[in-house]
Amino acid sequence: MAEAKFNTIVCFGEVLWDMLPAGEKPGGAPMNVAIHLKRHGVNPFMISAVGNDAEGQKLSRFLARSGLDLSFIQSDEMLPTSKVLVHLDSERNATYEICQPVAWDNIQYTDELGELAAKTDLTVFGTLALRSEPTKKTLLKFLEQSPGKRFLDVNLRPPFDSREIVEEMLYLTDFAKLNDEELRKIAGWRGVTGDEQELAGWLSNFYKCPIVCVTRGANGAALFIDDVFFEHPGFEVTAVDTVGAGDSFLAGLIVGLSAGNSPEKALEYACGVGAFVASQHGAVPEYLPCDVEKAIAKNSGSRS
Ligand code: ATP
Repeated sequence: MAEAKFNTIVCFGEVLWDMLPAGEKPGGAPMNVAIHLKRHGVNPFMISAVGNDAEGQKLSRFLARSGLDLSFIQSDEMLPTSKVLVHLDSERNATYEICQPVAWDNIQYTDELGELAAKTDLTVFGTLALRSEPTKKTLLKFLEQSPGKRFLDVNLRPPFDSREIVEEMLYLTDFAKLNDEELRKIAGWRGVTGDEQELAGWLSNFYKCPIVCVTRGANGAALFIDDVFFEHPGFEVTAVDTVGAGDSFLAGLIVGLSAGNSPEKALEYACGVGAFVASQHGAVPEYLPCDVEKAIAKNSGSRS
């Protein structure tokens, strides 16, 4: 299997406030991934920016309380802290209205970021980081300076989901995580059809991306790695809030692979974390890895 021991992990991109009908909550996929890594005893670096405003100060306090290092959270003098309006339909499916420009659209490259890049083993980022020129430039320079692997959380968020942006990043990445709908959309751009296994294999070969992970909500996930397709069914849980399940899954997969587990074990663990988080309130509930392991052990006899 591809070398997957990650000592220094960087999460790059958006930190924000999700404005939900019930109130505001800290959010942003890279930030959620960083916090879920932290829950597993990993100390990732978060690269982002907040505004020099009350919301930014509050977000920085939240990040510090979550145990994240704030050294690479920039404070932008001109742009506000990001707020995202989250609309929930009757089945509690979310759509997002992402205001712009905001502080994380203006992440600046610095010498310190260059030093961090040089020692980074894995950079996790999403396609939203590419919607503005300054942040895109910084991310591309960071990736260029880093000898480490790249993990793209595809996370298509209209209208920031253009083929040009997504394909540019797919060509650059070693890992891609996406859901079945996103996989079909991307394959459709190239006129490719097939079942999920065929499409994951196609994506891996076409974009030279060795590891492709397809999430399926309550139905678990699949992992295409070194030309082999692994699947894991969903663990049976009572889902109370699936926001953040994908981010926790991503963190669980990194932790599993980095610990030297087989792809099957890493995938099982990632599905276990995703299911556990879906059964809890909030995108980043408090938990310990042993809580997930216990839930996996309890559920392994009752999988769908
Ligand atoms: P996001 O919406 O955060 O971008 P995503 O679409 O990648 O994420 P999901 O497929 O919703 O994420 O969830 C990620 C993983 O978490 C799934 O592959 C599954 O293993 C687990 N999971 C999510 N929801 C449930 C659920 N209701 N029951 C069991 N497992 C779940």
